[in-house]
Amino acid sequence: MASPAIIVHGGAGTVADERRAGCIAGVERAAQAGWEVLARGGPALDAVEAATRVLEDDPEFNAGYGAVLNRLGTVEVDACIMDGRLRAGAVGAVPWMRHPITLARKLLEAGEHVMLVGGGALLYAREHGLSGDPPDTMISPRARERHEKALTTGVGDTVGACAIDRDGGLAAATSTGGTPYKRPGRIGDSPLVGAGNYADERAGAASATGHGESIIRVVLCKGLADRLRAGATSDEAARAAIAELVERTGGEGGVIVVDKQGRVGHFTSTPRMPWAAVVDGRLQSGAEQP
Ligand code: ASP
Repeated sequence: MASPAIIVHGGAGTVADERRAGCIAGVERAAQAGWEVLARGGPALDAVEAATRVLEDDPEFNAGYGAVLNRLGTVEVDACIMDGRLRAGAVGAVPWMRHPITLARKLLEAGEHVMLVGGGALLYAREHGLSGDPPDTMISPRARERHEKALTTGVGDTVGACAIDRDGGLAAATSTGGTPYKRPGRIGDSPLVGAGNYADERAGAASATGHGESIIRVVLCKGLADRLRAGATSDEAARAAIAELVERTGGEGGVIVVDKQGRVGHFTSTPRMPWAAVVDGRLQSGAEQP
């Protein structure tokens, strides 16, 4: 039997001082929701989905309710979920979906396709009893204000979770509204297997956040997993993956990880990335660099 553990993040970025406490409270709630699943012997996949759903419901974060608006003033969300047996489900540019992580999970379970986007993803959602949410229930006041100011700068507030269960099963989940004021149809790193999200029972599970166009090009989470397989610890692998991101692309970002021994790690090149973890039943959290 392995020791279960979970780590979640609320996005790499600046996180103004006045938002810090709310973001920490949000990631702690999510980590605890995932931990409850693990503590009763549930699978890592259920834990990361449960944790991500809590973050998708929280307007502090750029995922589900509260996702940033694109330049047409609409919401298009991206998400990916994967387990250590290399099963994956992902959705991209899905309009008005509050829990895209659950839609991605349906794809993972069905095993037919790995990724669906846009209208096709919405159609699949309807077929599986998940409807798109009415636009007026998806836009938080903060997202509206950011859009009205046409704030294009800064990534942040994307969410993710990585867990290991009692049987040593691994899973990772990532969910986002993408970058503020993005072009309609833009898909970032978050739903792309290996870029924004990855799990492999021979290495560990990772979820990234930050500048998607940069993260995609270094295939950040797969690179991190390769470092774990080569013998790096979770913290070393996280730090090295982000160092490569910055050095090779000039983009900024952060990542969380749990390795196959259940050791969690995190690192960000940005001023803050709210995170929370439960390891050995103990809740830890923070926002600044280790
Ligand atoms: N990585 C996300 C994207 O580019 C944004 C973020 O992490 O805040 O879509």
